[in-house]
Amino acid sequence: MRIGTGYDVHRFTEGRKLILGGVEIPYEKGLLGHSDADVLTHAIMDALLGAASLGDIGQHFPDNDEQYRGISSIVLLKKVQEMLDEKLYVIGNIDVTVICEAPKLRPYHDAIVRTLAEALSLPEDRISVKATTEEGLGFTGRKEGIACQAVCLLQELMEDGLSGRPAAGCAGCPGCPGGAV
Ligand code: MG
Repeated sequence: MRIGTGYDVHRFTEGRKLILGGVEIPYEKGLLGHSDADVLTHAIMDALLGAASLGDIGQHFPDNDEQYRGISSIVLLKKVQEMLDEKLYVIGNIDVTVICEAPKLRPYHDAIVRTLAEALSLPEDRISVKATTEEGLGFTGRKEGIACQAVCLLQELMEDGLSGRPAAGCAGCPGCPGGAV
């Protein structure tokens, strides 16, 4: 098992859509950013990359690269999962906390979880999305932006098997590369 954390912040601005977890949320402002500024999905991507020791999203998707201008962060999330696939990592679970004073996210919770689960081809119960306020304190409290924290677990059993290193708890089952060691 490998654990990763991600954190991201984007500021509110006029004239942009507010996208969180791939879902458009009706609100008077959107988030400023080079891509769609989906702060929730960015935090998840950084948690996944961190767990795999694959760097961060700024490294893979630079904010001065025109090909990523306005891009859906769900597209980038799928690219991150392809990187995990190459290293034979499987996502165990993801837990996210969105920190904002407004808007209220409860009505959009299920759609966000469903969208993320579909993008990652995961059961919905492997993705937890929570929201909290900071009681009016700080930049989120002043409604200047949204912060997001994410934690994930990756499973690496196949990688251990293929590398010839028995995974923890390996029972040496026939047919498994790890069991052939
Ligand atoms: Mg970001």
